[in-house]
Amino acid sequence: MTTSLLEVRDLCVTFDTSRGPVRAVRAVAFSLAPAEVMGLVGESGSGKSVSCRALMRLLPPRGVRMSGVALFQGRDILALPEEELRDLRGTELAMIFQNPSSHLNPVMPVGDQIAEPVLVHEGASRRQARARAAELLRQVGIPDPDSQLDRYPHQFSGGMRQRVMIAAALACRPKLLIADEPTTALDVTVQAQILRLLLELRDRSGLAIVLISHNLGVIAQTCDSVSVMYGGRVVERGSKRDVLSRPHHPYTEALIRSQPESAPLGAPLPTIEGQPPAPSELPTGCAFHPRCPYAQPVCVEEAPPLEETQDGRRSACWRWPELAARSGVTP
Ligand code: SF4
Repeated sequence: MTTSLLEVRDLCVTFDTSRGPVRAVRAVAFSLAPAEVMGLVGESGSGKSVSCRALMRLLPPRGVRMSGVALFQGRDILALPEEELRDLRGTELAMIFQNPSSHLNPVMPVGDQIAEPVLVHEGASRRQARARAAELLRQVGIPDPDSQLDRYPHQFSGGMRQRVMIAAALACRPKLLIADEPTTALDVTVQAQILRLLLELRDRSGLAIVLISHNLGVIAQTCDSVSVMYGGRVVERGSKRDVLSRPHHPYTEALIRSQPESAPLGAPLPTIEGQPPAPSELPTGCAFHPRCPYAQPVCVEEAPPLEETQDGRRSACWRWPELAARSGVTP
C-alpha cells in the first residue's frame, strides 16, 4: 500500500457574504501519493481553485471559514500555526498560477526572485543561492541561464515567464506542487512543453503535483488520477484511465463528450446544456440535476453520497451502477 503524501478529508470552505454564508467547497476528500500527478477538473466555479487555495491557506483570513483535515506528511496544514505554515509553504509546498505576471515581482531580477527562498529557508550564501537559481533556470529549459539571472520578468515571453515561476516554486525542492491552470494562457506548443517539463520534474525528483484544469485533454496527457468537481464537491474520482474511459458520473461523461476531440469532423461541438450553478444558488439534492439527462425524482430531493463504485473508484450519483454497466462513453 502506498503511503499518502497528502490526505484531505472533509474540506469545507464557507464565505460569509452580506447575503449570508456561501458554501464554496463541500466535504472535498482525496489523497495523493509521492510522485503522483492528480488532475482536479471541472467548469469555472466548481470549487477547484478555492479548494487548492484553502489547502495552501492562501484565502483571506477574514470572512472565510474552513474546516476539515489536510494531512501533509502527517501534519495538518489547516491547523498549523502561521509561522510553521510559512516555512512549509516556502519549502515543501509550492504553488504556481495561470498568470505568472501577477506572481513575479516586476522590479526584481528573476535570479534574485528564485534565489530569495534559498537564502531565507536554506541559509545559503548569496553565491550559492545565485548558482542554484542558474541551475533551476537550466532545469526548466531556459537557455544560457547565467546570462538570464539579471533580467526582469517583462523581458521574457509568456512561456518563459511561466518557466521562471516554476523555477522559483521549485527553489527549495518542494514535495508537492499545486499548479492552478498553469498552461491555460499559453499556445498549444508552449503548453505541451510546460506539461512535459512538469512530468520530467516529477520523474527526476519525485514531486507530487495537483494539476487544476478545465481541459480534459491536458488532464489526459499528464495525470495519473483524476478528481472531478461540480458545485463545490468531488463527484467522481479514480485513476485517469478508468475515469476518462468509463465514467461513473453523468457530469464526467458530459465533460468528455464536450471535448473538441470527441466531435466527428465538421459536426457542431457538443456542449453541456445549462450553466454551472453559482455556489450561492446550488440546486437541492444533486447539484447537477437541472443539467443531467439521467435525473430522477430522488436526485432533486437528496444529494447522493460519494461512494465507492469499482476498483477503488468513487462516484456521487444515484445511478452510477447503470453507467458502470455500460462499456464506455456513447456519443
Ligand atoms: Fe444525474 Fe441523479 Fe446522478 Fe445527479 S444523482 S448525476 S441528477 S442521475
